[in-house]
Amino acid sequence: MKHIKLNLDSVEHKIKEACIRSNRSREDVTLICVSKTKPIEMIQEVIQSGYKTFGENKVQELKDKIEGFDDSLEWHMIGHLQSNKVKYIVDKVKYIHSVDSMKLALEISKEAKKKKVEANILIEVNVAKEGTKHGVLVEDTLALVKEIMTLESVNVCGLMTIAPYVENPEDNRIYFRSLRQLAQDIDALQLNNVSMKVLSMGMTGDYEVAIEEGATHIRVGTGIFGERDYNING
Ligand SMILES: *Cc1c(COP(=O)(O)O)cnc(C)c1O
Repeated sequence: MKHIKLNLDSVEHKIKEACIRSNRSREDVTLICVSKTKPIEMIQEVIQSGYKTFGENKVQELKDKIEGFDDSLEWHMIGHLQSNKVKYIVDKVKYIHSVDSMKLALEISKEAKKKKVEANILIEVNVAKEGTKHGVLVEDTLALVKEIMTLESVNVCGLMTIAPYVENPEDNRIYFRSLRQLAQDIDALQLNNVSMKVLSMGMTGDYEVAIEEGATHIRVGTGIFGERDYNING
């Protein structure tokens, strides 16, 4: 699996270059290695290269993988989350990136309180207004944040978006820029239990542009692990 090390070197180089172009420091960008559908051995390869932050989009797989490693790793829930599955992961992840309803936030609050933890969440925003995507619309985001901020045991830490699939990453720059603008606008209101320090945006096809537009967390799967084969697990 030598290619994983090579892929990581290449991604790391591109992250550094994007940081230099945008006058940012490398430490301000966290690379989330998106390991969904990929086996433990590949994750081990990534760990050996010095990375320890992983993202998964399915609860069962996330839970299984967390249990397969010691607690030196950091896990992120990046996929759509059903309310009835919150209890399995609420105390095990750094951030839940995909909160887009009060119903889900309520469940997170309830389960976090039960487990005596604070849940750190990001609001998923459907910036590009794609009908097929989860996420709250830009114009509805502040209202949702104001509802969620009243909940116990939940901290809003920032925003997340999944940009459209595009051939030219430059096409997504406007979406990344508007997510950052939205975060700045909300931050300026200085709401209780609300910080906008995390901007989770950018995937394999467009993370360099996302970094240039202020991403603090990029979620890279294919660029590290190679193409996913969804047929393996049926
Ligand atoms: C799968 C996934 C990614 C990674 O996508 P790649 O294009 O393989 O880098 C990032 N974010 C989310 C929410 C995902 O589900």
